[in-house]
Amino acid sequence: MVHLIAGGIMHETHTFSAEPTPLDAFTVWRGAELSGFAGANHSMGGVVDAARELGATVSHTYLAQATSTAPVTGALFEEMVGELLQSIERALPADGVVLTLHGAMVAEGCLEADAEIVRRVRSLVGPDMPIAVTLDLHANTGQALIDAATIVVGYDTYPHIDLNERAQEATRLLVRTIRGEIAPTMALARPPLLPVPQAMYTSQHPFKTIFDRAFAMESEGRALTVTVAGGFAYADGPSTGLSILVTTDDDALAARTLANELAELAWSLRDDMRVVNTAPDAAVAEAIAFPEGPVMLVDVGDNIGGGTPGDGTVLLAELLRQGARDAVMVIADADAVRDAFAAGVGGIVETRVGGKADDRHGAPVPIRGRVRLLSDGRWVHEGPENAGVAAEPGLTAVVDVEGVTLVLNSRKIAPGDQQQLKSVGIDPIRQKIIVVKAAVRWRGGFGPIAKRAIHVATPGLGDVDLSRFDFNHLTRPIHPLDDDINWHG
Ligand SMILES: [Zn+2]
Repeated sequence: MVHLIAGGIMHETHTFSAEPTPLDAFTVWRGAELSGFAGANHSMGGVVDAARELGATVSHTYLAQATSTAPVTGALFEEMVGELLQSIERALPADGVVLTLHGAMVAEGCLEADAEIVRRVRSLVGPDMPIAVTLDLHANTGQALIDAATIVVGYDTYPHIDLNERAQEATRLLVRTIRGEIAPTMALARPPLLPVPQAMYTSQHPFKTIFDRAFAMESEGRALTVTVAGGFAYADGPSTGLSILVTTDDDALAARTLANELAELAWSLRDDMRVVNTAPDAAVAEAIAFPEGPVMLVDVGDNIGGGTPGDGTVLLAELLRQGARDAVMVIADADAVRDAFAAGVGGIVETRVGGKADDRHGAPVPIRGRVRLLSDGRWVHEGPENAGVAAEPGLTAVVDVEGVTLVLNSRKIAPGDQQQLKSVGIDPIRQKIIVVKAAVRWRGGFGPIAKRAIHVATPGLGDVDLSRFDFNHLTRPIHPLDDDINWHG
């Protein structure tokens, strides 16, 4: 019987964020706790499900995952990797290892933390044991990671609704490799492209166009698997940007040819990856004037899934200034939650909300409102993304401030699931305006009910104008930061 070892560390790092990443920012699962992912739309769920279907045994080791924040300290990185390696070592001997990673993790002193994790696992298990790695669509994939791994499979969707499926694919390819049925051969191509997350919605051109070509390569049997990663522009590192990875069965030339073909396609679509958003005042006016709801106001500058604080106030201030009605907005602010708890249900709370993490996402907004509901915050994703996985926003308060219903969380949670609102008694479909601190992720849960979406040019760490960030480690030249790039695959 095939014996696999599974574990991982998943963090998307925003290197321009001032928000620290302590250990308690991570949710950690150890040993048998990981089998609880069975059936969940999560990478580890896919590993568990595929292993069960294939009749393979899995030794579960260690998984740490956090919402996107600033680089993890060197000490924390060593602590987490140390525990992962020790638990893998205890599970040896094995036939193969599956690592669920993100691919855009940066630690102090380590710009390509994911590659470093795979490299260390490789040196622990030796050169012959197959290692499969799952990555996010926002992975910044460089050659170092590819060299240390045997199989690499990234998500094909954004919003990420195929996490389980892609991890099943990686696990199946791993088991076929162990059984000697295939010899995975990878080629990586990196056109000099630095798209922002908002450009990477996979149901629309240009990413849909690239993925359609990639899927054809898979379905025609020319490749075992193809990964198109848009990259995560806000993790400043030498491999940051778009990457194409093609894996064939023992055919290096075909892998290289296909990877270059996709890289050239992506490069040719670079102008279609440009994003221009609506100013906050105009966006709120447009949402109020729109005859139906819900209208999604997409707070792109405070895209929580992309490493922003989740306490941005620009749209709150604008909604209150323009007298919006039936609007709902979630803000992460533990202090304001405490004030609401002190006032109690039915009480009046006067406090300042948001704008506290840094000075890039608007100023704190003074509010006076009635506390409608207080809760422990916990809810479970209905999906599609992360279906079955619990969310832990901490103590949560719902406060009515004029026409705006404020949901105050103690910890930020990336929006994309209707349960975030339903769990505190708010029916999303009955709202006129819903603010989502996201770029694309919101489409997973809210896309089907949205009557209109307005992407707002809010300031912040999610700013789509990358020239406002002071990059130091990117490989240059890169589009759109540099002009007159003459690149050919
Ligand atoms: Zn992602």
